[in-house]
Amino acid sequence: MVQQKTDRYKGADTGDSYRSEGNMIQLRNVSKFYYSKGMISSGITKVNLDFDIGEFVVITGESGSGKSTLLNVISGLDTYEEGEMLIEGRETSHYSGADFEEYRKKYIGNIFQNFNLINSYTVYQNIELILLINGVSEAVIKEKVPDIIEKVGLTEHMNQKVSRLSGGQRQRVSIARALAKDTSIIVADEPTGNLDSASAEEIISLLADIAKDKLVVVVTHNFDQFEKYATRVVRMNDGRVIEDKVVSRRNLDGMTGGPVTGKLTNSSKIKLGVRNTFNIIPKFLLLLIVFLFVTLSVSGVYTNYKESQSASNEFGYNNFFQNYSDDRIIVKNRDSSVITDETLTKLRELDGVKTLVKDDVMLDKTVNIENEYLSFYGNVYPIESLTREIEDGALPSKDSEAVILTDPEMGEIMGEPEDVIGRKSDLYLEETGSKLTDIKISGIAYINSEDEDVYEPSKLYLTEGKMEELRAYAYMAASEVKIEAGSKDIKSEAEYASYRLIPLDGLAKGSAIVPEEFNDYYSDGKAAGKYINISVENMYFTSKARLKNQSDFNEKTYSKYIGMDTYEEHMTDIFVSPKDYEDLFDKGTYQVSIYARNSHEVDTVAAQLKDMKMQYLPLKDAVSNDFDVEGITGIVQVPFMVLLVVVVFFIAYFVVRLILKSRDTYFAIVRMLGMSKKDIKRILDIEMLVVVSIAYLIFLIAVLLISHEIINIEYIRYLTEYMSFKGYVLLYLVLLVMSYLISGRAARKLFAASAMQAYRGEV
Ligand code: ADP
Ligand code: MG
Repeated sequence: MVQQKTDRYKGADTGDSYRSEGNMIQLRNVSKFYYSKGMISSGITKVNLDFDIGEFVVITGESGSGKSTLLNVISGLDTYEEGEMLIEGRETSHYSGADFEEYRKKYIGNIFQNFNLINSYTVYQNIELILLINGVSEAVIKEKVPDIIEKVGLTEHMNQKVSRLSGGQRQRVSIARALAKDTSIIVADEPTGNLDSASAEEIISLLADIAKDKLVVVVTHNFDQFEKYATRVVRMNDGRVIEDKVVSRRNLDGMTGGPVTGKLTNSSKIKLGVRNTFNIIPKFLLLLIVFLFVTLSVSGVYTNYKESQSASNEFGYNNFFQNYSDDRIIVKNRDSSVITDETLTKLRELDGVKTLVKDDVMLDKTVNIENEYLSFYGNVYPIESLTREIEDGALPSKDSEAVILTDPEMGEIMGEPEDVIGRKSDLYLEETGSKLTDIKISGIAYINSEDEDVYEPSKLYLTEGKMEELRAYAYMAASEVKIEAGSKDIKSEAEYASYRLIPLDGLAKGSAIVPEEFNDYYSDGKAAGKYINISVENMYFTSKARLKNQSDFNEKTYSKYIGMDTYEEHMTDIFVSPKDYEDLFDKGTYQVSIYARNSHEVDTVAAQLKDMKMQYLPLKDAVSNDFDVEGITGIVQVPFMVLLVVVVFFIAYFVVRLILKSRDTYFAIVRMLGMSKKDIKRILDIEMLVVVSIAYLIFLIAVLLISHEIINIEYIRYLTEYMSFKGYVLLYLVLLVMSYLISGRAARKLFAASAMQAYRGEV
């Protein structure tokens, strides 16, 4: 077919022969109108022209005469309103936008005044691009591209970015690109408009050379430059053709290049997607930051959800372990013997252990702190388990200091935080009401009850040293204390808060001071000088003491014997020496609590405890949920989570849109070159996928480094607390879907304009 046509052109050196049927392009009374601001202006009016292979047609005329409009109609960039344009004899007046896109891809090579090259690509990559778009194989590309570059004399600059080239060199690249595309028609609108005369001369001779086996249509307002090479001149005025003259013989080397039918292959899409990712480094970094933000936000949302689920587990009230948290494991020897220091060291070194609390009896005690600015009531926790930020004050710097976590809504703090911080306060054990020790609040963290879906109790965070100091009190509170005095058997039980043992500094070992009513327990009505027998029993140990009553006290004699002014507080207490107190209650470590690094690591720790033949109880297994709290919070949480993710999505989308705005040129050009919307979208998808995967990889590396304690980023540590393998996979999937949707939306925006609109935006 091609050969046939070429034959027909033979000897066609008169003006008549190219009006024969079967010409490459025929225009019949073609008119194009522009509608703008309610006005109709005509671009071209009733144009009749035929074009053929071998011609080097120069369209000339004054500015505004319709040259560009004519060229755009010929090259299918613009539609026409009247008449008919035939391409190889086929009518096009019914063509849709997609039909013209295909036409452009198959037949048209474009050369522009402003080059329309991808500036961030090298010369080689610009030429390669068009070949990839047309589905040319890698092997052929490798051979062909250097050849074509040589033809336009740019071999030296092959691997240079286009942005570094001069105007003349750029135009040569765009000619090389048109050559590489190897279509039968090449159109050029003012190709020398931005060039000096020497470069212009070179470009024109290159074009004339090409025209030997193609149809080249050039628009210029400077015909003189082209006179030497043109085979034909078309002069325009006010949208009409006023002259159409053959000025020299057509070139008859025979046609090369035919309709392009190849398609961008999948591997080319991946190649271009990856290339575009790293092409412009600042853009890549910006996108990376956006996707890191998305990664952290989405994992934050997920963690928050997980956290509130475990908080709702906490809500399932457990009446033995008051300090219920699902990362806590109670550990003791199987025979309830004292845990040796050696074992303690081993326990601390187990995998997944965050902290070990030696004096864990204290953990299940409720305490209160009372003074004129504070009325605190909560459970005791080790300071290491504080995960919230301290908003006022600081971490404890000595054992006498502590941090409270409180809900401002509860009104536990009655003054300003400054009134509370640093003030010496009394710490009471709630069950017995007895003062345990002095404490200074060094810092305050807050519960935001509006953020939480479940009630969270106030917490007191103590240092390890302080907890050790309070161990004896905790054991006393957890013990059954029996006191025998004279003939009577007096049993002290926590519920009655009756006879408590209080260590009194300065009291000699072996003596006790008892309330006046003890006199009644002895047959002669005198307690002083007589003995009391004390026995202590709890789940770990029993202990006994036999103390001699040094004296008895009443309201009047209290301050004389005790040396304090606290009769009201201690009217039914027995004072003993600190040494006896310690002997009775401080028998070593029988039970410890391990806090796992997170609730998922509890199982890891438990497995090791099993190997150590320890008895252990993970509290997350001990909880009894009488009703399905999880189900209830789930219903509230899920829409909230979805909402958050949607918000993050839109923030990311708008930023990505802004970043991609700088690449509108790129997308306009590749569309001009005939890449389909679908393929451009695919390439954008791949770019986003690469960026999101890199962002995720960075996140994983950070997680890894943090878990090996090489670096420490509090927020990410917090995030990882609730993440499981499933969580990580899920997170990646969510990120992939989000990046896909973002690129989809961005692409839709990019393609809302037609190729021509996009192109005009560029000119
Ligand atoms: P030339 O390339 O010869 O300078 P054009 O083809 O660009 O001329 O323009 C021909 C006529 O069409 C002019 O009157 C111009 O104002 C009008 N025209 C061109 N493009 C548009 C457009 N996008 N909207 C409205 N009018 C246009
Ligand atoms: Mg123009």
